[in-house]
Amino acid sequence: MSFDLTDEERAIRDTVRDFAEAEIRPHVMEWDEAQAFPRSVFDKLGALGFLGCFVPEEHGGAGLTVSQYIGLIEELARVDGSVALSVAAHNSLCTNHLVMFGSESQKKAYLPKLASGEWIGAWGLTEPGSGSDAGGMETTARRDGAGWVLNGQKTFITHGSVGQLAVVMAVTDRTKEKGGISAFAVPMDTPGIRPGKKENKLGMRASDTSTTPRGCSADGTGKRLTRQSRSSGSGRS
Ligand SMILES: Cc1cc2nc3c(=O)[nH]c(=O)nc-3n(C[C@H](O)[C@H](O)[C@H](O)COP(=O)(O)OP(=O)(O)OC[C@H]3O[C@@H](n4cnc5c(N)ncnc54)[C@H](O)[C@@H]3O)c2cc1C
Repeated sequence: MSFDLTDEERAIRDTVRDFAEAEIRPHVMEWDEAQAFPRSVFDKLGALGFLGCFVPEEHGGAGLTVSQYIGLIEELARVDGSVALSVAAHNSLCTNHLVMFGSESQKKAYLPKLASGEWIGAWGLTEPGSGSDAGGMETTARRDGAGWVLNGQKTFITHGSVGQLAVVMAVTDRTKEKGGISAFAVPMDTPGIRPGKKENKLGMRASDTSTTPRGCSADGTGKRLTRQSRSSGSGRS
């Protein structure tokens, strides 16, 4: 097995390395000390295709391979762990969840905005009382007409204050041992969502991490992502 980079992987690595040296390195300390999320860098990363790494070209993405993507994150992390963390959370957690499980209408509505960087994506699993042990999740989702009402609190959410769309995990059936938790695409301007306190971290302080207030309820417009949509392309929304 060869571990050499392909020409394409090398070209992506060089592009990101040059970008990180020119656009990120001069500002690393300033952003960290100010705990400022560098929005303008994300506009530029979007223009380069690095915010739609796993998004198919038909939805405005770059359609990178996993090893090309790893090269991107490595090169960003070499210069600024905050930017690397944010780019990874946007691509892998939020956007890729929609790529894998979103319905066609969700993909059409959200992927081009996420891939271009017009929207920043968040992903909400962790809660004050449950982290890696997601079975202890308390956030619920209940049907309300054509939509869903989500109710609960999430914590440590990357882009919880600066994001425009969140993929949020919520309990839809507490009686099920498996499959009782569903993922929802929730625009952050949905009535009832209140962006919470920005966490004051020890490191990676330019990457926004926040906690929603207790009892936060996203009203009516949450759209469920479905596992079926991955195989059949006919996901419900
Ligand atoms: C900078 C930063 C960004 C983050 N961004 C996000 C984000 O965007 N979205 C999000 O949802 N979360 C985010 N998180 C939260 C992160 O994903 C959680 O911290 C992680 O899931 C671990 O959860 P926890 O901290 O509650 O640790 P715990 O779940 O308390 O785990 C602590 C330890 O206990 C072990 N453990 C837990 N449960 C069990 C069990 N049942 N059996 C045996 N061992 C167990 C774990 O392996 C671990 O070693 C972020 C955290 C940080 C620090």
